[in-house]
Amino acid sequence: MKEDLLHFVWQHQYFDKAGLVTTTGESINIINPGFAHRDAGPDFVQAKILIGDIEWHGHVELHVTSSDWQKHGHNSDPAYQNVVLHVVWDDDIPLHYDDKVAIPTLELKHRIKPDLTRSSAALVKNDSKIACADSIHQVDVLTVTSMVERALMSRLELKSSELGLVLKTNNGDWEQAAYQWLMKHMGFKKNSEPMYRLAQQLPLTIIRKHHHDIHQLEALLFGVAGMLSEEVQDDYYKDLKREYDFLSHKYGLKDKEISTVEWKYLRLRPANFPSLRIAQVAQIFHSHPSFFSILTETIDVKKIRELFRVSQSDYWCSHYQFGKSTKHAIPGLGKSSIDGLLINVCATLLVSYGKFTDNQSYIERALDLLAQIKPEKNAIINQWSALGSTIASAADSQGLLGLYKLYCRPRQCLRCSIGAAILNR
Ligand code: SF4
Repeated sequence: MKEDLLHFVWQHQYFDKAGLVTTTGESINIINPGFAHRDAGPDFVQAKILIGDIEWHGHVELHVTSSDWQKHGHNSDPAYQNVVLHVVWDDDIPLHYDDKVAIPTLELKHRIKPDLTRSSAALVKNDSKIACADSIHQVDVLTVTSMVERALMSRLELKSSELGLVLKTNNGDWEQAAYQWLMKHMGFKKNSEPMYRLAQQLPLTIIRKHHHDIHQLEALLFGVAGMLSEEVQDDYYKDLKREYDFLSHKYGLKDKEISTVEWKYLRLRPANFPSLRIAQVAQIFHSHPSFFSILTETIDVKKIRELFRVSQSDYWCSHYQFGKSTKHAIPGLGKSSIDGLLINVCATLLVSYGKFTDNQSYIERALDLLAQIKPEKNAIINQWSALGSTIASAADSQGLLGLYKLYCRPRQCLRCSIGAAILNR
């Protein structure tokens, strides 16, 4: 018996409830088993349990053996003083509160069907990447859909907590945090860290002061990126370098420059080269210096998409790197790159801002935005697709990615409604 299964059994009340009594013989009537509590503290909160003639309101704590209570140090932890019922698989020792009163304990060892234990072990130990691949088609559509929606919200909340840390380091300045968050995602995986560092080293206040002049913007971004520190025989490069020398002296940027070795070009398609991405960022802030305000004030998804539909300056329409020209015209950000930014930057910013301001309408706008974007294509989504999942938009694909990463991969089947439905058959 594992605690996960005990948690599952209590949450769904999958045990024989006839003649329930505590280990000291008092009758038990479960009015409300409480709500699962994932953070530190008791496992279930706000439970209502009738023990004998008294209705208790408080927490429920679960353990495989009753002695785990002591092993986990709960006897001296005030967070556990309001536990009204201790639910265990095996009552191996009697337990008492400080005042010598017995802790009401329910033993479930003889009340759980053996086949539930067997089938849950089989499900969790299954070798397939999606453990329920053979049985998910037997689960009703509503259960699957609501689980995917739950996973989508968990994924958005997780990303929003990450963004919350960025906001904290910027003392609650949303425009600055949004700029850094956008920069991080403009690095598209391989260069996300140096892009984020670049945004940390070059404050948005300076970018905004020079937003009207694309040449100065590029000089600032490429200069602090450390990309103007070499000798390149190229007139445009030399111009930017001269401009940057002046601006770096004005703002004291010399010590803020990033080392060129941080930028990765290996195994990247030229369209993803960090030099081109920086040129595109320069153009985004040239056109939309108050990027975050526009995002929060615009309801129209098309207008949000317009934020990224910019073409880089002339030089970068024929160069992927300084001094190396190409014959073909280099387009601006592609549709799938823009979709990625809408999903990872805009939806996350809206959810995070909605949570921060306690305004649900921003969260609904994020969901609406995701529902209007095409689903991503990757190996995980292909697996769900092969199982017949509905994947009509980025809301579906993000939900399925969340389900896979937060539940299937760490084998949290017992905390997943799909797993519960399979085990309940
Ligand atoms: S977590 Fe849920 S969806 Fe994923 S494999 Fe387990 S039961 Fe299936």
